[in-house]
Amino acid sequence: MASRVCLVHYHEIGLKGKNRARFEHILMDNLKAALAAFSVATIARISGHILVTFSVAGEAERAFELIARVPGVARVSLAFHTNREAHEYCQAAVRALREAGEFSSFKVAARRSNTDYELTSIDLNRQVGEVLCEAFPDKKVLMHDPDIQVHVLVVQGSVYVYAKSIPGVGGLPQGSAGKVVTLLSSGIDSPVATWMLARRGATPVPVHFSGRPQTADTSEYLVQDVIEALAPAVKIPRLYVVPFGDCQREISLACPSDLRVIMYRRVMYSVAERIARLENAKAIVTGESLGQVASQTLENIMAVNEVASLPVFRPLIGSDKQEIIARAKQIGTYDISTQDAPDCCTLFMPRRPETHAKMDKVHEAWDMFDHDAMIDQLVRDVEHIDFPRQP
Ligand code: ATP
Ligand code: MG
Repeated sequence: MASRVCLVHYHEIGLKGKNRARFEHILMDNLKAALAAFSVATIARISGHILVTFSVAGEAERAFELIARVPGVARVSLAFHTNREAHEYCQAAVRALREAGEFSSFKVAARRSNTDYELTSIDLNRQVGEVLCEAFPDKKVLMHDPDIQVHVLVVQGSVYVYAKSIPGVGGLPQGSAGKVVTLLSSGIDSPVATWMLARRGATPVPVHFSGRPQTADTSEYLVQDVIEALAPAVKIPRLYVVPFGDCQREISLACPSDLRVIMYRRVMYSVAERIARLENAKAIVTGESLGQVASQTLENIMAVNEVASLPVFRPLIGSDKQEIIARAKQIGTYDISTQDAPDCCTLFMPRRPETHAKMDKVHEAWDMFDHDAMIDQLVRDVEHIDFPRQP
């Protein structure tokens, strides 16, 4: 009887030469962690894929879509695992094609990883193809561009047969690129920016600025929900929360109102940079997109960027809102981000923020309050929450 397994395919990590084994191990560890709620029996490398087997029936089918969300996974297939008996793998091929959805044409793509098997891949294609033609008499066999391919992979004593296969998120396994501090609000953009860096192999260390005690702590809960929506495929072990309301009040009293937002942002970047150094993170990430709002003009980005010495990554800088929204929906953060929550962005907002800040005015305003003491105090008062959250 065939059992169900997941076959994980990866592209980019396959290209990394000497690093390949290291990347594969990180990916296997990440898959294990992401699948902690499942009864995983084995995670092993076989013939250019990672094989995930389960000890409880029905779990491969349930884990399949979660696996596709793990960074580094280019594709995942839901396969039947059989022995080398022809009737076993041929029957598996019939079942695989049956569950593959609507189609009018197909082909068999067989591969052997070892040549001790008596049949060549051409023989296998013919043998399995004949059985499928009998089982699906109204379907066409097409060698070029068929709707569905039935893959038959022979690896030592086992045969893996699949037709159902979905693209993964791609990228690199998380943890292969080190840490980045991400400025995470409960808005639409920064969860997407955070996810993008995670997909490139980085471990995000999010920092959220809350309006507390001048506002409620709703945004802090939304940010936690964002992190939980990305999990378990994306790992974010710790969230830093900075109660920022009183400092914003102090800035709003001390500085010209049109430059307030730039002052808030300079303090936020400075605190983020200090946390990055404590965490040994090597960059800061924001969800800024050029021209999207008043604070995201080139002049204002420059005025804020000046306080940072670490690289600041803005993966969404050239994206349109519609593209960002589509991604937010795909990664499951959109519905959280569209809930209303006052955070430090909505607090003490000037009626007419400066959109083209002049550097000399920015420097004057920066010296109108004791920014160094403020940054020190905020770093001392920073709070953190570890994930997965304890009940
Ligand atoms: P987002 O949807 O990510 O909130 P936004 O369109 O609202 O972005 P801004 O409010 O100008 O844009 O914020 C720009 C970036 O600054 C955000 O993408 C985020 O990286 C950072 N940021 C804004 N507010 C906060 C906050 N309260 N805590 C942490 N970072 C923040
Ligand atoms: Mg925002």
